[in-house]
Amino acid sequence: MAAVLVTAPAADVSAVQLRDSHRRLLHVLTQSRGVSMPHLKQIHGQILRTGSAIEDCTDTFYLYSRLIHFSSLQDVRYAEKIFSQIANPNTFMYNILIRGYAHSKDLKSRAFPLFRNLLEEENLLPDKHTFPFVLKACAYLFSLIEGKQAHAQFLKRGFGPDVYVNNSLIHFYASCGCSESARKVFDKMPDRSLVSWNAIIDALVQLGEFDEALKRFVELMESSSFHPDGYTLQSVIDASTGIGALSMGIWAHAFILKRCIIDTNFDVLVSNSLIEMYCKCGALRMAAQVFEGMSRRDVNSWNAMILGLAGYGEAERVFEHFNRMIDVEKLLPNSVTFVGVLSACSHRGLVNDGRQYFNLMVTEYNIEPVLQHYGCLIDLLARNGRIDEALDVVSGMPMKPDAVIWRCILDASCRNSVGTLDSSEEIARKIISEEGANNSGVYVLLSRVYASADKWDDVGLVRRLMTEKGVAKEPGCSSVEINGVVHEFFAGDTTHPWTNEIYRFLDVIDEKLKVEGYAPDFSQAPFVGEADGKAQCLRLHSERLAIAYGLLNSKHGDTIRVFKNLRVCKDCHSFSKLVSKVFDVEIIMRDRLRFHRFKNGQCSCMDFW
Ligand code: ZN
Ligand code: ZN
Repeated sequence: MAAVLVTAPAADVSAVQLRDSHRRLLHVLTQSRGVSMPHLKQIHGQILRTGSAIEDCTDTFYLYSRLIHFSSLQDVRYAEKIFSQIANPNTFMYNILIRGYAHSKDLKSRAFPLFRNLLEEENLLPDKHTFPFVLKACAYLFSLIEGKQAHAQFLKRGFGPDVYVNNSLIHFYASCGCSESARKVFDKMPDRSLVSWNAIIDALVQLGEFDEALKRFVELMESSSFHPDGYTLQSVIDASTGIGALSMGIWAHAFILKRCIIDTNFDVLVSNSLIEMYCKCGALRMAAQVFEGMSRRDVNSWNAMILGLAGYGEAERVFEHFNRMIDVEKLLPNSVTFVGVLSACSHRGLVNDGRQYFNLMVTEYNIEPVLQHYGCLIDLLARNGRIDEALDVVSGMPMKPDAVIWRCILDASCRNSVGTLDSSEEIARKIISEEGANNSGVYVLLSRVYASADKWDDVGLVRRLMTEKGVAKEPGCSSVEINGVVHEFFAGDTTHPWTNEIYRFLDVIDEKLKVEGYAPDFSQAPFVGEADGKAQCLRLHSERLAIAYGLLNSKHGDTIRVFKNLRVCKDCHSFSKLVSKVFDVEIIMRDRLRFHRFKNGQCSCMDFW
């Protein structure tokens, strides 16, 4: 803004002169959209010099509010200094300052004490504008107790129905991980705007409660006259991605095409989410369709497609996209792009390419490798049996390796049976020291190390240790979507209404597979026991229940999409390959790390995973 300098009036100014002087300053502060900090300090100094008749001059009061407002945007401490010079601040000034702290980078913790001061003021009350900022700061700081106190004050003062504050409450509880409280606030709201609906659906997505988020969305569509907007659909797509609910994702896509008018910027955002959704729901072809149909793509669009392809081990297509992005669209790859490229190399065991891309990233694009890049490279080397080279990379890393890296080396040495027992035990100890002794994964791996070395006594020891320490193995869980409904199965699950049919059908599958020469592979079911018991154990792995249910409910030509929370075991992998051949069906399985596409008795991972 133009530098307007207001000269200070002489010391013996009359009340009229004082008022005029303040009005001029006020004019400066109201006519400008931003005033620099030095200029604000100058104006503040001038007001102080003229003496403040603040209690009886409305203009002066307003002048101070503006000063606090402008300085709170730049230097909230200075804003509080001005605030402290006011004998009787009002709620409006409190709100400005609380908002300033809530939006500040590192002083958010000042918002709640200020709120408490406001409550202690004799003649002042918080108003509905006070709460959203207090709650915002509490949400950021995970201050559950303070936020709850604000909530209690909000109810006590009769603001219960206010939509805006309720949205803030939903956001606050969701940020603190209290989905139940967020839901309660939502359910008690008498008037729900679309923005409210969006708040609860988004909160549930952020909390990972995708199923619940989709239920709320269906409720929104059924019970109200609101039409979902771009934000609602974005959340629905994210929830579909999280849960693998392809048909809901397709529905949201169709809805956007037919009914939503979305501006170009939002269009790129939504398309990127659609690409991610289709990739993660096992529909790579549809992801590619969305990608190719985009009129404008940003680096995130390319990253979404590259990461998606990498998950399927489609390394050649990843390289092709990478080149196209740089040569044709003249976009610079970023750190995420290289995570995609390197993980594609890792999923396919392309050691030379992986090393080359890693070097390219550092030398050509000046991207400093982060733990994830190192993780991909180490995984790639280790899984190709180059454990020593992987350990070299670990020792050359500028950062401390995390438990994920150690686990991948341990896992690789188990798979390749190259690790000596001593070094495997050493690595297991490192993981336990990194993650604490409560990580079930490392015990499972360690028991596999002992099993592959035929040390069954030690396997039993590990198992007893797990029981003693109360470490529970993360239960395997697989889901399959049938006619728009996602069905979830745990290992050995008997809670599904179709349980009898599923187990009977598993017997049928077993008989058919036996004819094809299938024999269970126990190498990854290391716990001691009779062979029959182990076979039974493998037979009940959750993905088999999901596949059986999928087969029972699909017709010829359908693709069965299964999502599993853990890595698929070797035996279930062989099982799925044979099922795809015997039943002439395509099975797409997303496990913890990647996709497997089973067709005609083969898997797209080429048995390297
Ligand atoms: Zn299995
Ligand atoms: Zn596979």
